[in-house]
Amino acid sequence: MIREMKTVLASFVQIFVFSSFCAGQSPAPAVRVRILNPTNGTVLRAHQQSVIQVEVTALDGLVSKVDVFVDTNSLGHLAEPPFTFPFQADALGSGVHHLSVTASDNRGDQATSPSIEVTVLAFAPVVRAVYLIPADRTLNPAYVNAIFGALTNLQGWYSQQLSNGTAFRLNVPAVESYVTPHAAIWYATNAGGYFYNALNDGFVLTGGTYPDPDITWVFYLDADAKGQATGGIKGVAVLHQGDLQGLVAESSSTTKRWIGGSGHELGHAFGLLHPPSCETPIPGVVCASSALMWLGYTTYPDTYLLPADKSILNQSGFFYAPTNVISLLSPQIGTNGFSFNANVETGWPYRALSSSNLQIWDNYTNFVTQSSNVQIHATISSTNKLFRVQYK
Ligand SMILES: [Zn+2]
Repeated sequence: MIREMKTVLASFVQIFVFSSFCAGQSPAPAVRVRILNPTNGTVLRAHQQSVIQVEVTALDGLVSKVDVFVDTNSLGHLAEPPFTFPFQADALGSGVHHLSVTASDNRGDQATSPSIEVTVLAFAPVVRAVYLIPADRTLNPAYVNAIFGALTNLQGWYSQQLSNGTAFRLNVPAVESYVTPHAAIWYATNAGGYFYNALNDGFVLTGGTYPDPDITWVFYLDADAKGQATGGIKGVAVLHQGDLQGLVAESSSTTKRWIGGSGHELGHAFGLLHPPSCETPIPGVVCASSALMWLGYTTYPDTYLLPADKSILNQSGFFYAPTNVISLLSPQIGTNGFSFNANVETGWPYRALSSSNLQIWDNYTNFVTQSSNVQIHATISSTNKLFRVQYK
């Protein structure tokens, strides 16, 4: 027992001596590596291009390989500087991920970086509607409601035209409001013109960029265009004071005509063009004058998309089916009836149905909607009723 103790003591002393021989310093690792970009906690959108930038130092050799990992899967490798690895966020898949890199030198020394957490948002292109209030105007809540009403109406109309269960999605919140740094008159008088003046202010205020593969912009500027051009180009539409007044019935034309007007400009923002032969006559081609993308906006909703328009929309990333599954929540029975909520994805056209036998389902319209949730109130009927909510 005593002998064993001595042995242990001896080894301890030996180790101690060895340590002091090294002057109390631990040897520096031969390879050091860390990720400079993205930084910890970065949120990336699916379509976003990003770069993993690696800093690697090999003290006594040459860096021979840098392996890039997302979670435990290899994303690729780099053999020489600069150690930058471009990638599209989508390649990681949506959700939370951990990036790390392993670097090796030509002597076989290896090191792994601390991991960096990034979140990739699901690919979900949206229409962002922005109500711009010039500095000398005040927010009109009726305009916010009218824009929301017009866009949800157009969402249903476009969806019906495509008849394949897809629609464009509205952002959350569906309508954003910003007070601009300029008076209303500035937009028509400043060099650059109304359209671009509105866009510039809109992008500064929202922090938005153009073009953005995830966002189709619709700006409603409460300023007189003074006859200047407004409208839509791919990715963005600008509507003016006249449109806002029209949407709240302060116009000699019907509200529908103004919803149609928004729909036409939104069509341009989705990449739709005027029908052939309308602007410039083409011999032998008749202008489809009552299509939405020509004069059909005046008779909205009694108008249509041309097959060519539909094919553009079907190939557009902005038209897709809702991704969540509707579930019915919080059923409550009261004295006058009962209610429940449904978690419907914001901005998607949906409908409620009821049945007493699970076989015949009728549209049920007696419900109240509350923001993104559908709340259904029903009176208790003599027969049992079943309810369901589905996307249109
Ligand atoms: Zn047009």
